[in-house]
Amino acid sequence: MCDPEVSGAVVVDKTDTSPVVGIFGGTFDPVHNGHLQVAEAVRRQLPMDKVLFIPAAVPLLRVEPLADSVHRLEMVRLAVDGWPGFEIDDREIRRAGPSYSVVTLEELRQELPSMPLCLILGIDAVLRLTEWYRWTELLELAHIAVMGRPGWRLPTVLPDWWIQARADTGADLVKCTAGSVVCVDVPRLNISSTGVRTEILQGTVNTEILPEPVVNYIKDHALYGYPS
Ligand code: ATP
Repeated sequence: MCDPEVSGAVVVDKTDTSPVVGIFGGTFDPVHNGHLQVAEAVRRQLPMDKVLFIPAAVPLLRVEPLADSVHRLEMVRLAVDGWPGFEIDDREIRRAGPSYSVVTLEELRQELPSMPLCLILGIDAVLRLTEWYRWTELLELAHIAVMGRPGWRLPTVLPDWWIQARADTGADLVKCTAGSVVCVDVPRLNISSTGVRTEILQGTVNTEILPEPVVNYIKDHALYGYPS
């Protein structure tokens, strides 16, 4: 549960029923149907009206993206078109330097001082959270929704930071602006950008794993070594 005494989060006024704003960051190299479907599952299960897709310009803790940030942003734009709960936020691509989530959350917190914010993270990302830049500040700025993913399991013993912040239900997220961690049951989709890039190289990419406009964009721009 969020505890303003220890987390720095703000208790939300009970008369204010602001829904939670979902923050879905990623390299999106490229965005795939897994991203869209799990984000929608989170949005529907939590009191969340919208999810901001925030492509990273220079992601940390991983190899450099293959596609230029302009292409990755455009593919996310095409992918979210037609999903009423999804929006794009291009601030990390406009900002110079590494794409630190804590800086993005600080900016959003300034813009939306009384709205609960919630980082949406796959379990693979959560398991590396303590390697993130200024990671201890993340829960002062936002809640975290954890999504399962094929091939990854919750640790048998949760780390202390998680136990202290654990919330039982999504309804807890509207009580504070930040500070809770909630697990969300999402469809188990064995789709990753790495797998998608392999399929593209083989020329076998299809609309089961990528939205059709993204398939067409990749073909038109011969991205990821798509056979021309
Ligand atoms: P790559 O294979 O290049 O590492 P990725 O498919 O993991 O890419 P990212 O853009 O790195 O995609 O992921 C952004 C976020 O989406 C991360 O929090 C990641 O855990 C989550 N995510 C991606 N695919 C899935 C999936 N199929 N199920 C659940 N979460 C996912």
